[in-house]
Amino acid sequence: MTKLRKDISKADAWNLDALYPSISAWQTDFDRPDNLAELLALRAKLDLISLPKALHLYFNLQRESEKLYTWAHLKHDEDITDSIYKVAHEKAQNRLQIFAQKTSWLAPEILEMDEHIITAKELHEFHVYLEKLFALKKHHLPSSEEKLMALALQPLSTGYKCFSSLTNADFLFDEVLDSNKTPHELSHASYGLYLQSKDRVLRENTFKTYHKKYSAFKNTLCDLLQGKITAHLFEAKARGFENCLEAALKPKNIPLSVYHSLIKAVKSHLEPLTDYYTFRKDLLGYKDLHLYDMNHILAHTYTIPYAKAEDLIIRSVRPLGEEYQETLYRGLQSGWVDRFENKGKRSGAYSSGCFDSPPYILMNYKEILRDVFTLGHEAGHSMHSHYSRKHQPYHYSDYPIFVAEVASTFNEQLLFNLMLKESGSSSERNALIQSQIDNIRATLFRQTMFAEFELFLHTEVEEGRPLTPECLEEKYFELLKSYSSPVLTLDDEVGVEWARIPHFYYNFYVYQYATGLSAAIALSQKVLNGNDNERNSYLNFLKGGSSKYPIDLLKEAGVDMTTTAPFEDALAYFAQLTRELKVSN
Ligand SMILES: [Zn+2]
Repeated sequence: MTKLRKDISKADAWNLDALYPSISAWQTDFDRPDNLAELLALRAKLDLISLPKALHLYFNLQRESEKLYTWAHLKHDEDITDSIYKVAHEKAQNRLQIFAQKTSWLAPEILEMDEHIITAKELHEFHVYLEKLFALKKHHLPSSEEKLMALALQPLSTGYKCFSSLTNADFLFDEVLDSNKTPHELSHASYGLYLQSKDRVLRENTFKTYHKKYSAFKNTLCDLLQGKITAHLFEAKARGFENCLEAALKPKNIPLSVYHSLIKAVKSHLEPLTDYYTFRKDLLGYKDLHLYDMNHILAHTYTIPYAKAEDLIIRSVRPLGEEYQETLYRGLQSGWVDRFENKGKRSGAYSSGCFDSPPYILMNYKEILRDVFTLGHEAGHSMHSHYSRKHQPYHYSDYPIFVAEVASTFNEQLLFNLMLKESGSSSERNALIQSQIDNIRATLFRQTMFAEFELFLHTEVEEGRPLTPECLEEKYFELLKSYSSPVLTLDDEVGVEWARIPHFYYNFYVYQYATGLSAAIALSQKVLNGNDNERNSYLNFLKGGSSKYPIDLLKEAGVDMTTTAPFEDALAYFAQLTRELKVSN
């Protein structure tokens, strides 16, 4: 029986007291008069004296609103059916939106000033912020138009909202039968579980029934996706970008070539994938291998209690030094993590928190091997936040996803390294290698294929060609074929998979999973095989927040993402793992 929230012990829950001890304390802070009027009074009066004051006010106000928001969203996620925190969450969200609207004049007014202010001594502490702002000057609009853009955000997000409501709330799936003809209830959560089942009939029925549902709604889903891609194009055009890809990458100063060379590198290294599929097919003794045969673990099944998972994670980060290890240990012991599932708790896992709180990790820990790696992953994010917040001022303490996924997957690599060293039997070892192979397959190969599909979606819309379910299905099928191998049999149903991937609504997001893992593999090898220099370069990267552009932070850590080397090294590593698995079986 799943526990109720009130029955979760304090030791297993996160400790949010550093933010607010109660809803009334939160409400008191929420109602406290703020300094917004003081900032608004500086409108149309910006100069070298008032601008530093305006920026201090602006960032302080944002910081206060984030603190309110963080507590409310964490409490809301503890039990999303609890209306007290649902209301608090909505109030905090509105507050952030209103703040963004009321201060949308600030950036345009700064950009009307002379560019020399970037280096003015009065603005020394905002130097990088101003440099980044002026680098995008030609894509900023006059304040009246910025206001319109801010107002348009909500209606432009309807496509994704509808996708989410339709597929999460309105979709009811047919029951699926296993090999004994026993019916099972199908949901988004059970879909993943059934695909890991050893019962092939259950896996096949699950896969087909699940996709049949999306197929039945493919016209609506196509229009929703087209709506969101058109919204990206609207924003790109309104801000004078060449295309949607430039609009997504340029603000973070990521060269467009990184996107293209990732796709090129992965596509030209697909042979090890064939090796792995062949290995899997032979081991299972199947005549043909389908996508629904890819998810169950063939070797040893791990059962890892929560305390053991923490212990493994703490020991695995030893190469990062005592201070790192000690900080993480204390964090995990003293309420960073909300460990287990309870009724109404948000599913999945994440790392959150804000400048005025410790990092917080939401888990739904289930004692399986994947969950140990998930906890390690989120702990990597949390330590990145810890270091960036400690070493940067508020306005540089955040970091973009391009670097975030490096810090998290780096820790997964360290964990894999330790567990492999300590694995007792060859079946334990095989299970570990297989999970690492599946992880790279799902991150490097699959996300790069998604990235290519996303580029296709945007190019079609940019060039005025309408998206239809038929053309999406055809393209998706073609990509699946070119990113897999003749060893894999592709069923007719797979072409409609495009219709169920929420990430296609995220605007050039997924490629960063592939670049992040590639950088993490390269950097973890450097730290594991290196000395203090490599370790300190990596720790400096964690401390960097957004004080530099992502590509530059990574370059200083020791990996150059503008070359194809990190992708090629990651692909070579994948090939090495598949060879090891073959040899040991
Ligand atoms: Zn992550």
